[in-house]
Amino acid sequence: MERSTIVRVHEGLHARPATRFVKLAKGFESDVELVKDGKAVSAKSSVKLMLLAVKENQEVTVRANGADAIEAIEALIGYLENPKAGLDDEAEPQRPANDAGQAASSSAPQSMPAATGQENGLRGVAASEGVAIGPAFAHFPPEIAGQGRMLQAEEIAGEIERFRAAVAAVQARMDRTLAHDSLSAADRGIVAALRDIAADDSLTGEAEKAIRGGNDAVSAVITAASTIAADFGAVDDHYLNARADDVHAVGRQICLVLLGQDDVSLESIPEGAILIADDIGAWDLARAPLKRIGGVICGHGGATSHIAIIARSHGIPAVLGLGDQVNALRTARDVALDGNTGHVIIDPDAATRADYAGRVEAAAKERAGLTAFKTVTPKRADGKVIEVAANIGSLEEIEAAQEAGAMGVGLFRTELLFMRHMHLPSEDMQAETYAALAKAFAPYPVIVRTLDIGGDKPIAGIEFPDEENPFLGWRGIRMCLDRPDIFKSQLRALLRAAVHGNIKVMLPMVSDISEVTRSRALVDECIAELKAEAVPYATFDLGVMIETPAAVLIAPALAKEVAFFSIGTNDLTQYIMAADRLNPTVAKLNDVTNPAVMSAIELTAKAGVAAGIMVGMCGEAAGRPDLIPAFIEMGLTELSMSPASIQRAKKTITVMAAGD
Ligand code: PEP
Ligand code: MG
Repeated sequence: MERSTIVRVHEGLHARPATRFVKLAKGFESDVELVKDGKAVSAKSSVKLMLLAVKENQEVTVRANGADAIEAIEALIGYLENPKAGLDDEAEPQRPANDAGQAASSSAPQSMPAATGQENGLRGVAASEGVAIGPAFAHFPPEIAGQGRMLQAEEIAGEIERFRAAVAAVQARMDRTLAHDSLSAADRGIVAALRDIAADDSLTGEAEKAIRGGNDAVSAVITAASTIAADFGAVDDHYLNARADDVHAVGRQICLVLLGQDDVSLESIPEGAILIADDIGAWDLARAPLKRIGGVICGHGGATSHIAIIARSHGIPAVLGLGDQVNALRTARDVALDGNTGHVIIDPDAATRADYAGRVEAAAKERAGLTAFKTVTPKRADGKVIEVAANIGSLEEIEAAQEAGAMGVGLFRTELLFMRHMHLPSEDMQAETYAALAKAFAPYPVIVRTLDIGGDKPIAGIEFPDEENPFLGWRGIRMCLDRPDIFKSQLRALLRAAVHGNIKVMLPMVSDISEVTRSRALVDECIAELKAEAVPYATFDLGVMIETPAAVLIAPALAKEVAFFSIGTNDLTQYIMAADRLNPTVAKLNDVTNPAVMSAIELTAKAGVAAGIMVGMCGEAAGRPDLIPAFIEMGLTELSMSPASIQRAKKTITVMAAGD
């Protein structure tokens, strides 16, 4: 029997979710397969599952055959549809927010002079931000090679035994590592993923096949690991490509046990040293004294490799993917690295040293000072809470926003949802997305902006006319009101999602009151429909973005019609100044601090405050520490920004309230 579903696992079935899925599948006697695009693999092998490269929102089928097939399908479909409700034994390694972008730069690291101008500079992949300078700790363990002889037929059974014992020893060692309390949740997830690779039939089966073919166990493991690593390398997913390094790392551990060798230890790394290696197993790094490591430089690896993930989660600057250039560092005494740009400088001169030392100190000071603000609820001097929320455009960004300490979402841009697909997203799909957001941030509010798209960013399913000035054309609320089929499906989805949390909705590009009244009429129509269909829904606060001069000038009237304002300074600046936000020639005029724009913001705030509605801001200016005090003075009580700016903004407000 079989059942199909859409995968809701965040980022798809990569390392940890694949492991969890396998763990569930193994709990059933039935043979279980997962099918995607007509390709079926055993649901009991995490390597095979990962290689199927199942992504979030893809359709898959779970097929089971056996006595407990119904239960197996129930449980596995349940996990795919609602992964959070399932097991949560180990934390999951995180993908970096800009996975694709960073990984793209990982493919061809080039040698180039460092930014300081000092020669002997190298450049690799900027894999973990921050700068570091310190003594070099070169870690180049010897290459492992097979015996290079063919086994006699009578030796094969014994070699398979030896191989199985080595696998068991590696698994046991990894289990012992996992049992350590000192391991962080993220590292625990990574080690657990490696243990699963060690235990997976794909690697062991491939190696045993090679031994049966007459290869010694070490050669067999090297071959098997290379084959599986090549499969991971061929998948169209940067995250899964990086799993190739994990397979090699596990293979290496098995080989070391077979050869009776110990790996070179990282235990002796001195305080603040820069770890340099051609390749470091994620397992080795997770067990290393990470607090002492000042930076990591590696020939292998990219922004999505486990080394990068570990480095990022421990705040260790890292430059990876240097390729053969890393050999130039074997004899270095001191090294400086910049994990933001990928620069590495061997034996830096005095000026470079001073520059790096200053940057390290400043960054450490700022970081240390800001993290304390993650959980702070910033208040004005009179005690009124200022909500510092996040601007996001996809569910993938939820985690970064929460990590930063976001007090909800002040702008969820829904355009990506529409642009990502070959067709318009269905009402159901939208409802699930908005509900997931609402649940993630409840009880904080999530402000979803209705579709703000125009001729400058066409999307499948909407025919845009050719326009001389798309920024002054058929975009945002104008287009939506002309296409109630699209608008109503979004409004219905939002009403349905509002059952799950604190959803608020705002309209973009408003320039006339009628746009609000017509939108509200459509919301009422949607409510009546949902009621008649007996579909659960909840009402939401309706607000508007203030981003056109017209909206500013009619703000007092608008304020009587809506529950809140959110000032979109990006567009407001371009429209007030008549300076295209995309045109570098007029960039000087496109300045939010221009008195014309600042007084437009002030007029808006005044109108909102007088009407007793919330006035917030979700344009880029909301995150500027130099402007935040002025906005608070004007009466804004909500500021929404990119997650990276949140802690600094909280600090600015707190300091302001204290009168420092
Ligand atoms: C704005 O215009 O300030 C805004 C937040 O919207 P966007 O940048 O998406 O146009
Ligand atoms: Mg805008």
